Amino acid sequence: MGLAIVPGSFDPVTWGHVDIIRRAARLFDRVIALVMVNDQKQALFTPEERLYMLRESVRGIQRVEADFYGGMTYDYIARHGVDAIVKGLRDGADFAYECQIAQFNRQHAPQADTLFLLADPQRQALSSSWVKRAYVAGEEIRDAVPPVVLAMLAKKLPINKTKESEDRGMEHGRKCN
Ligand code: ADP
Repeated sequence: MGLAIVPGSFDPVTWGHVDIIRRAARLFDRVIALVMVNDQKQALFTPEERLYMLRESVRGIQRVEADFYGGMTYDYIARHGVDAIVKGLRDGADFAYECQIAQFNRQHAPQADTLFLLADPQRQALSSSWVKRAYVAGEEIRDAVPPVVLAMLAKKLPINKTKESEDRGMEHGRKCN
């Protein structure tokens, strides 16, 4: 059924995103997971880093590739002959936000419809911003993101290592001031 894009900031990609991409690949002949720039959000990772993590995370899913585009979604649609935009919905807030985006894209690129897939209930609570907050707080995020994201977070936010070693220090009865 043609070519679909799954656009997002992917700052960073989570298993929730990968689930939507995987399901889109069952519906379309070809799927492009597309890193885009969202001016309303300050990204932790550069577009190159976000694309690298996304590409590694979808490696092995048949008919799926990853790309970056810094312009408008409707331009990408026109340039690449995209048939559909696939987005994941977690809740009513996602729906309200995504409706506006879908109507905007429809005005500018009526050749591509937007399809919404409901989030997997087990991954519904996952968001990129939760992952970043939880990582800094030293919480367990192993089940939330692909391994490549764990490695990139460790490089980007070494703060977590400090907390881990402090925790270990406390466990061994050392006083940490
Ligand atoms: P945004 O596009 O707002 O910058 P993201 O890049 O995080 O946000 O998300 C891109 C798309 O992925 C959005 O449609 C969002 O609703 C969806 N999404 C994010 N997290 C999940 C999840 N855990 N399950 C399903 N869909 C999700």
